[in-house]
Amino acid sequence: MSKPLVIDKPSPHFDSRKGTRIDVVVLHHTGSNNGRADLAWLRGQESGVSAHYLVDRDGRIYQLVADADRAWHAGRCALRGVVTDMNSRSLGVEIVNDGTGRTPYTVQQYQALESLVPYLVTTYGVPLENLVGHKDVAIPAGCKNDPSPNFDFARIRRVVASALSSAGQQALAAHS
Ligand SMILES: [Zn+2]
Repeated sequence: MSKPLVIDKPSPHFDSRKGTRIDVVVLHHTGSNNGRADLAWLRGQESGVSAHYLVDRDGRIYQLVADADRAWHAGRCALRGVVTDMNSRSLGVEIVNDGTGRTPYTVQQYQALESLVPYLVTTYGVPLENLVGHKDVAIPAGCKNDPSPNFDFARIRRVVASALSSAGQQALAAHS
């Protein structure tokens, strides 16, 4: 599966994974509805936060931190009840949206996510149950609400499930 086109916009807010393997993808909304302001915040000195990717309203995908590096996007987290250093093991994807639950995510954003997220899960072998929203893993529970409830997570999960199953079939065929 090939990587979708990304625009490099480096952020300083990362450090080393120290060898931790990637096995989670975390989706976020930015909380503004302004990609330019979000890029400035995630790249600016004072924020101290960045995801690996930002998907703008027009479907453009910005890469802020290299996949190999540990981006600072998730804070304190637990996965299925087990406290974990989520930043070390995950890739973070920010989706530009104000997070009110009333502003629709755009068709272009869904299309971008439908190519980016399957690429990430198949490239790094992320299991489907480890494709999560920030609100699913942040602790204490209820402290985060992203991505907002009007984000069609099921749509992304379907595409990812189908990409994982065809990747599995290709692997089986290669072994036979
Ligand atoms: Zn978040």
